[in-house]
Amino acid sequence: MPVSRSDAAVDPAHLPLSSLPGVGARVAEKLAARGLLTLQDLWMQLPRRYEDRTSITPIRTLQPGVAAQVEGRVEAVERGFRYRPMLRVAVGDDSQSTLVLRFFHFRAAQVAQFQPGARIRCYGTPRAGQHGLEIVHPSYRLLDDEDAGALGERLDPVYPAIEGIGPATLRKLIGQALDKLPDDEALELLPQPLRASLKLPSLKQALLTAHRPPRDADLAALSAGTHPAQQRLALEELLAHHLSLRRQRIALQQQRAAALKNGDTLAQRLREGLPFALTGAQQRVFGQIRADLAKPVPMLRLVQGDVGSGKTVVAAMAALLAIEAGKQAALMAPTELLAEQHLVNLRGWLEPLGVRVAWLAGKVTGKARASAMNAVANGEAQVVVGTHALMQEHVVFHDLALAIVDEQHRFGVHQRLALRDKGAGGDAVPHQLVMTATPIPRTLAMAAYADLDVSAIDELPPGRTPIQTVVLSAERRPELIERIRAACAEGRQAYWVCTLIDDSDEVVAQAAQSTYENLSASLPELRIGLVHGRMKANDKQATMRAFKDGAIDLLVATTVIEVGVDVPNASLMIVENAERLGLAQLHQLRGRVGRGSAASSCVLLYQSPLSMMAKQRLETMRQTNDGFVIAEKDLELRGPGELLGVRQTGLAAFRVADLARDAALLPRVREIADALLSESPDVADRIVQRWVGGAARYAAA
Ligand code: ADP
Ligand code: MG
Repeated sequence: MPVSRSDAAVDPAHLPLSSLPGVGARVAEKLAARGLLTLQDLWMQLPRRYEDRTSITPIRTLQPGVAAQVEGRVEAVERGFRYRPMLRVAVGDDSQSTLVLRFFHFRAAQVAQFQPGARIRCYGTPRAGQHGLEIVHPSYRLLDDEDAGALGERLDPVYPAIEGIGPATLRKLIGQALDKLPDDEALELLPQPLRASLKLPSLKQALLTAHRPPRDADLAALSAGTHPAQQRLALEELLAHHLSLRRQRIALQQQRAAALKNGDTLAQRLREGLPFALTGAQQRVFGQIRADLAKPVPMLRLVQGDVGSGKTVVAAMAALLAIEAGKQAALMAPTELLAEQHLVNLRGWLEPLGVRVAWLAGKVTGKARASAMNAVANGEAQVVVGTHALMQEHVVFHDLALAIVDEQHRFGVHQRLALRDKGAGGDAVPHQLVMTATPIPRTLAMAAYADLDVSAIDELPPGRTPIQTVVLSAERRPELIERIRAACAEGRQAYWVCTLIDDSDEVVAQAAQSTYENLSASLPELRIGLVHGRMKANDKQATMRAFKDGAIDLLVATTVIEVGVDVPNASLMIVENAERLGLAQLHQLRGRVGRGSAASSCVLLYQSPLSMMAKQRLETMRQTNDGFVIAEKDLELRGPGELLGVRQTGLAAFRVADLARDAALLPRVREIADALLSESPDVADRIVQRWVGGAARYAAA
């Protein structure tokens, strides 16, 4: 919703930065490069840290690592050129101690300033040097003897650097922008009773405190981002994003979808034919999906279920609901390997019920492709399985009613929406079912997926024994050969997974190839297979099938097997260079074993030395098999951006909030959003407009 001219005239928030004195085209351009276009953008550009120049610290009480301001007189100056130019200035104060200021870059004019006896005030972080404490490149200023040397009234903000704009200029510009803040009432959007109950400052107060904290402000809280002023801003920003997602959801619900309520006879027939009984969790989630699909409103449901929890069969039953209603379903997976597995499963389950399943992946070409596309377009194919090839523009569906996306974390929101747009003509859009095995911590899901309903298959099929995980140094590799020999002698199968820092397909493929050769030499009695990303798709699939059929004992693979591969007889997995993989990936990989009733184990081999982070990851893997626990740990170690695939979710766009730090605010955010949407939708609009602005990108996507 563009702001009209007259609005802009009264609302300084949207004034361009060129309206500030000193901002010409060049500066405006530098600011714009960082997304700073309006006064409001500068208001929201918070300091990265603060410096306390409100007092003077005696040199005697300085501590290494603790920033402080010092005042004294120059005692001695020494210039050196030994390895590179260097300037050392000794400063003494009334506490009878000396501090060394050390410069590596300096101008002659600077040297001339440091006359013995000159009065100097400086700020920086001392460290232990050769001759007591020293500060490298302090900020400093010389005072003449008449100068009373007034101290700072407030903590000094230090802003994130912007290329081409000096820190002093930036501080000045932000100060000027702040001077144009409207009064409290004009600025505030949160209703007063709400603010009172939150016990947080007004927006104006919060901004002023965050930019210009008074000298007695809690510096520790400010540095940690937990000061009430910062929390107030984070809350409003999180609220804005949440509201924006909720509004997209509301918009989606205004659309129509086919109500799939011809019954679930086919689904029940599939279920009765299965060699196992559905778990309680699978039944519950299927029930939720069935209820959604019966409504003439598009479903948008995320099914979270740990690896091996049995999501595929639930998806197949959902597809049958569409088919029974005379419509089509599509299942999209992120890799060909995974898509092919789904194809095999779905054909096995659905063809006996008389359902025709088509296959569309990048490698399907020529006549096969034309005939698949044709079957999809004329409705002969009731289910189509494939990769993102499904979303290409020229793929036309006869009557797509349900789009299922597996392993959603690998797809972007845009891809998801593209499949949605594949709805049959008319105004109906397909229902969407999104499945992920990478559980997202509850709080994060709330923020990232406020536009989705979430179901959890939180129960594993019975009879699985937990996977034993051991972490070993790569030096113990020889022992593993015996372990593989023993497992295979018992009729079990094993994976050996190769990873490398340089994960260019080619280098990893070479490493896998040589591992394959070494293992073949050490284990001549075993049938060993190899899969990696550089192989032809056909060869890859032939090997996978041979492994699944038990014709291969040991599969040497790259992380191409990360998702979806399902060979219940495999009970041993060895991951080389496990320290290089993230938690989510390790968890996915490990999920390839422990799918049958045999006790399984996973050996994580690492190369010393281990970084702190790597050590913690491996320790987490050793301690737990629970995907949700692992996801929480992952969030703690990596932060939310990495976890969700930042660009996909738009969560990187936060200016103030930090999901890991501010997760505790999210339940409140949700409550407030509920209240605003029902009582003051206009306020909700303005909050979204302020923080998310015209960037309601996904709605338009
Ligand atoms: P994921 O949730 O990781 O996608 P899959 O759908 O691949 O899991 O299922 C893992 C394995 O468990 C498959 O072999 C599947 O046939 C089997 N399975 C699914 N549900 C059950 C169940 N209720 N009881 C026993 N085995 C099941
Ligand atoms: Mg799966």
